[in-house]
Amino acid sequence: SDSHFPVPVTPLHVDYSFHYPHFFPSKKTSDDNGNVTGIHQAPSPSVCSRKIQFADIGCGFGGLLVSLATLFPKTLMIGMELRDKVTEYVRERILALREANPEQYQNISVVRTNSMKYIPNFFEKGTLLKMFFLFPDPHFKEKNHRRRVISPHLLDEYAYTLEVGGIIYTITDVEDLGEWMKTCLEDHPLFEALTEEELKADPVVKLLCSATEEGQKVARNGGQTFQAIYRRIAAPRED
Ligand code: SAM
Repeated sequence: SDSHFPVPVTPLHVDYSFHYPHFFPSKKTSDDNGNVTGIHQAPSPSVCSRKIQFADIGCGFGGLLVSLATLFPKTLMIGMELRDKVTEYVRERILALREANPEQYQNISVVRTNSMKYIPNFFEKGTLLKMFFLFPDPHFKEKNHRRRVISPHLLDEYAYTLEVGGIIYTITDVEDLGEWMKTCLEDHPLFEALTEEELKADPVVKLLCSATEEGQKVARNGGQTFQAIYRRIAAPRED
């Protein structure tokens, strides 16, 4: 249950010096899920933004984060994962990469949490540039569709945390789920699909399959994938 992991009370309580010590040196301590217990944190000037800008939701074993870390070395990114052991694996994977490659992989981290409940605890309004929902659990039965990580209601939350122009990437090998995610995004007033040209020009799109453990599995088995990639747009004016 959720009681096993502490949750930051607000995004200001996310301990950046725990997740990104290279960029946010600090002497203070935090709990073991990276929640601030005290004072303000000063970022190092070498980081682009003092906020997390990419979130990999249900990051699994962290393959995407590892690939993005070197592609966007100045962007802070976090993986959110529900399973305790998997989160621990990713944490150790990142620490090992940092040790083997000083100066690299300092911009990625992972947190154990239930993303369906706690996104607003981690990210302030309009701060995320990219959100990833890659090979999410399908929840096939209709009565379980409410457990899907993309839904009209959750898209409201994602729209809130994304900056205008920010992008949601979704991909799955389950056709029905692919249709579902696309329809939810298409029907939402605050998202629009990227054009074919934009998809071709975006280096991240190629990673959705090649960098994720699930995507690699699907590719090995010769499976098909279904992607929906949408941009957060401004709310229409009311006059
Ligand atoms: N994205 C990874 C990939 O493509 O390799 C992992 C995909 S895996 C099929 C789905 C992951 O989402 C699992 O690791 C699962 O534990 C995680 N997950 C499911 N529900 C979640 C939730 N509510 N919050 C955070 N993670 C969740």
